[in-house]
Amino acid sequence: MRTSWRIGSLFGIEIRIDSSWIIIFTFVTWALSSVYFPNRFPGWPQWQYWIIGVVTSLLFFASVLGHELTHSLVAMRQGEEVRSITLFILGGVAELKGEPESPFKEFSMAFVGPLSSMIIALFFWALSLIFRDLNQPLWALTRYLGLINLIIGIFNLIPGFPMDGGRVLRAIIWKVTGNLRRSTRIASVAGQTIAFLFIMFGIFLIFSRAIFNGLWMVFIGWFIHSAAARGYKQVVMKDMLKDIRARDLMNREFETVSRDLPLQELIDEHILKRRQRAFLVFDRNQLDGIICLDDVKAVPRGKWTTTRVGEIMTPKEKLETVFPEDDGTSVLAKLTGKNVNQVPVVRGEKVEGILCRSDVLELLQLRAELGV
Ligand SMILES: [Zn+2]
Repeated sequence: MRTSWRIGSLFGIEIRIDSSWIIIFTFVTWALSSVYFPNRFPGWPQWQYWIIGVVTSLLFFASVLGHELTHSLVAMRQGEEVRSITLFILGGVAELKGEPESPFKEFSMAFVGPLSSMIIALFFWALSLIFRDLNQPLWALTRYLGLINLIIGIFNLIPGFPMDGGRVLRAIIWKVTGNLRRSTRIASVAGQTIAFLFIMFGIFLIFSRAIFNGLWMVFIGWFIHSAAARGYKQVVMKDMLKDIRARDLMNREFETVSRDLPLQELIDEHILKRRQRAFLVFDRNQLDGIICLDDVKAVPRGKWTTTRVGEIMTPKEKLETVFPEDDGTSVLAKLTGKNVNQVPVVRGEKVEGILCRSDVLELLQLRAELGV
């Protein structure tokens, strides 16, 4: 389970830190204060390494926030809704409400990220020139921040999804082909290939006895790989489900059962005869709950005669409902978000049908097999 804390808000965007950020913040501060600065600038008092280390580390994360904020501000300018920015172990993520609507929007949103890091790098580099002969600790601090922001900028220019460069690549291919799914696949394959190279290079470093840098490379590669694959899957799913409505997926011909019905009878008389996977449970013409094939399968066969529907059904209070007009993406989000297997499709007081998670997944599988 992921935990994150809200630390404030900027331009109406919520700024959060993920629990994993604490680890990386502690690590970066430690590495700067007891390895990096002492090696390059020997002779400072011990407390000074720590103060400069903490300040550098804070400014480093402020730079990452600046990078994400630039993405978000451009997105908002384009009319997108940005919910929050979360800082976590490998930088930051800005959470947008949906996928970008056009290649141009995607391009400009992605491109400003590396650009902002380069500008921040330039700013610290200019400051470092000023401090060079005036104050060694401040020179060390600004020089490091200039360098690290340059690295962040260059890293994000790598043309593989989910890096900014990969999004730029996706926008260009999208513009040329007019196909968001195909361009995401190409950018994602590029991302996974680059991730693979990172991992190979990491393994090479480990064998060359640069174990720490090697492990770090493998970790970054693994992270890029999973993010690239996940990003592609999300786009494909959203694309497949966006023009499907709950009413197209639901079963209208549903039969209702009573809560006192034993499972064995439900199986023999209803599930097998009707070949229906889920039944609404009604009590005196009122919706009481829902029972699905998956609920039945969870009960051992030997208990089918003694267990009654009411004991294992999803009761009304826990029931999620959807409207007939809800689109496939929001239906699936509801099913997975609440971790339920079925939802009644309801308009007002009237139940119009029921919809199982398997209906959505079957449709996804069918469309994936047909490539449509
Ligand atoms: Zn970025």
